[in-house]
Order: sequence, then structure tokens, then C-alpha cells
Amino acid sequence: MNFELNQDQLAIRNHVSSLLKEVCPPEYAAKCDELQKPPREAFEALAKNGWLGIIGPEEYGGSGGGATELAILLNEVGYHFEELGMWIFRNLAYGCFAVLKHGTKQQIESIVPGVIRGDISFCFGLTEPDSGSDASALKTRAVLNGDHYIINGRKVYTSGMDISDYCLLVTRTSSLEKKQQGITNFLVNTKLDGIEVRKLQTLGQRSIGTTEVLYSDVKVPADMVLGTVDDGWKGADSYLCYERLCLSAARTGAAQSAFDFALDYAKTRHQFGRPIGKFQAISHKFSDMKVMLDISETMIFRYAWLMENNRATRQDAAILKLYTSESYKAISDMCLQVLGGYGYCMEYPMQRFFRDSRLATIGAGTSEIQKNIIAGSLGL
Ligand SMILES: Cc1cc2nc3c(=O)[nH]c(=O)nc-3n(C[C@H](O)[C@H](O)[C@H](O)COP(=O)(O)OP(=O)(O)OC[C@H]3O[C@@H](n4cnc5c(N)ncnc54)[C@H](O)[C@@H]3O)c2cc1C
Repeated sequence: MNFELNQDQLAIRNHVSSLLKEVCPPEYAAKCDELQKPPREAFEALAKNGWLGIIGPEEYGGSGGGATELAILLNEVGYHFEELGMWIFRNLAYGCFAVLKHGTKQQIESIVPGVIRGDISFCFGLTEPDSGSDASALKTRAVLNGDHYIINGRKVYTSGMDISDYCLLVTRTSSLEKKQQGITNFLVNTKLDGIEVRKLQTLGQRSIGTTEVLYSDVKVPADMVLGTVDDGWKGADSYLCYERLCLSAARTGAAQSAFDFALDYAKTRHQFGRPIGKFQAISHKFSDMKVMLDISETMIFRYAWLMENNRATRQDAAILKLYTSESYKAISDMCLQVLGGYGYCMEYPMQRFFRDSRLATIGAGTSEIQKNIIAGSLGL
């Protein structure tokens, strides 16, 4: 296992970093959050420079990178603006990874090049009002009617639905013995008749945010089934494992950003005649945070390596998600404390890290659920 990045991988970090310093400075991220405005200019700049093709095959305009290159990209984007990282992650995880893995040739050719160019955006509709952690208990129903399906149901927390062209929608097509059976995934055009989207107001992740979506007699062509009818849970599970790498990379980037800001503050803010970073109570917080950041980064690249070598398990994904999420939450809390009253003011960026990080231990499987998966893998 080699954690050392090669020259090409280091170049990804450097190029993305200098691009985002220009198109996504801290004031821009703060404004997008405040105005609840998607970071479209920064997204388009990343697309124009080819970064949305990082995992796409060359024949579709991509650069054919693997999980490590993806992790580097998302880590760097997350450092500059987590919500931008979320947008990129959804496109790459669902619009690229999922479609390439489970799509037909026609689906791949009509969608993947558009995702790589930044013309097509994706979101993911799994969670419902009555099925969150118990995700496979979903009820949104798709019924075959000639050459199309009729979809009815309600999804909650479909993040980015209002700025997406397609939703990778998880539905029930049959009631079989086990709830994980009879599930089918669709590539649903978000502008179809019968789709109603309502924005939800949330504590953090306010630039793009999340939505509630009502599907009333939505007619979806049968050739927009992604993967196998009634056997979609395996597909959904594989996207979730991929999602955990993306989220961990982006959020560890955001945690590093909060850390750097607070470190600078601790070196320049004086109380009792010395920089506050000279007080052990403050400096030890930085030691604890540095350990968490180093472990998170090592775990991300270890998991990326496992993915590239087809050795990543659900347990590995759960360990990664649990540790990096809890670390980000703890780091943003400690950094806010380091800034004292300024940490609590909306004019400073720390409150955004604090609000955004709170989702890390809830979204894409709560920390409790990750612990259940880990315990289950130990035979408990
Ligand atoms: C801002 C935001 C964005 C999101 N984006 C998306 C998205 O794009 N697409 C999507 O499909 N979903 C999305 N989600 C949904 C998210 O994945 C769920 O919120 C999450 O899986 C938890 O489900 P729940 O909220 O229904 O909580 P519940 O499942 O009701 O859980 C409530 C509490 O009970 C605990 N709990 C539940 N079951 C167990 C158990 N067996 N053992 C121990 N504890 C348990 C949980 O850990 C939690 O603390 C998003 C959520 C938010 C808030």
C-alpha cells in the first residue's frame, strides 16, 4: 500500500488549489452561504478546466483517474468551499461513477460526457419521510405501464434537486420477501411533469441545500432504469460506499481549512500579553486536531487504495465515514472555541464550518448506523 502521492497527483492538488484561490476565495464562499446561492461561477471554472472529468474515461472527455485522484480533488475543493465539494461529489458519484458502473451504453453516452463538461448535474433521492436510517424500507412506487413507469411517492432531503438535471431515484417496484429486494433505480429527468420540489431550510449547507420532492404520476421511460429491475439495492449500496469516500475527502478538506484559520488566529490574537496559542489549554486543542486530521487523511487514501484494488468492504467505508465525520464535527467545535466571541459571529467563517459540520454525522448514514455496520462485521 503506497500513500505517497506521485508527481501527477501532487499536480492535481496544486492546480486545483491555485484555480480555487482565484475563483472561490473565502468571501465568495461566505456570500454563497449567506445568500443561499449555488457557487455556479466556481463550478463552471472547475468544469472548464476539465476537473469534472477526473474519473471519466478518456473516450467521453475525462482523464481516467481513480479513487485517489478523486479524493485529492474533493479534498482540495472541500478546503475552499464544502458546498462546492458536495455539488461536484454528487455529479461524480451518481452522474459518473453510478452511470458508468450500472448504465447501458446509451445511458452512458447520453449522460456522462455532459456531466464531464459540467452541463448535466445530478442529485440522489433515497431518503423518505418514513425511511431514513432504515433506507431500504422506502415506499416510493414505480409501476410498469407499457414502455414507461409511473412513479408516485415523496422523498425528503434530496440535496441539490432544484439545480439538477437528473435525480438518481431509488424506488420500489415489487413487494418481495425482504425489503432490500424489489428495489429499482431510475435516472429521472428532474423537469418531468408531476415533480414538485420544495426547498427545506437547514442549519448548514445553505448555499445549495436540500429539498423535499413529491412525485405524482411521473412518467419515466423504461429505458431510464439504471441497472437491473428489482435488484437495485446492491447498486444503491455501491453508490453509498463511493459516497463515503467523496464525503470524507471533502469534509476533511473543510476541517483542515477551519484548522488553518484558527491556527493563524491563535498565533495573532493576544490576551494577558501573549498569543492565545501559547496557553496550553489552546495549544493542546491544536495537537488533538492535528492528530485527527492526519488520521483522517491517512484513512482516506487507504480507503481509496482499497477501492482501486477492489478490496474495500462496507466495514472499511463505515470506519472511514464514522471517523472523518466525528473528527470534522469535533474540529469545527474546537476551532470555534479558539476564536472566542468572534467564532460566534456571522462575519467570521467559523460559524459556517460549525453549522456545515453538524450534517457530517447525520447525512449519508448517521454515526450510530456506521457503528452498527462495524459491530455487525465483528459478528455482534
Ligand atoms: C441536509 C441533509 C442533506 C441530505 N441529503 C440527502 C440526499 O441528497 N439524498 C438522500 O437520499 N438523503 C439525504 N439526506 C438524508 C440522510 O441521509 C438521513 O437524514 C440520514 O440517513 C438519517 O435518517 P433520518 O434523518 O430519517 O433519521 P432517523 O433514521 O429517523 O434516525 C434518528 C436517530 O435515530 C438513530 N437511529 C436510527 N436507527 C438506529 C439504529 N438501528 N441504531 C441506532 N440508532 C439508530 C439515528 O442514528 C439518529 O440519531 C440528507 C439529510 C440532511 C439533513
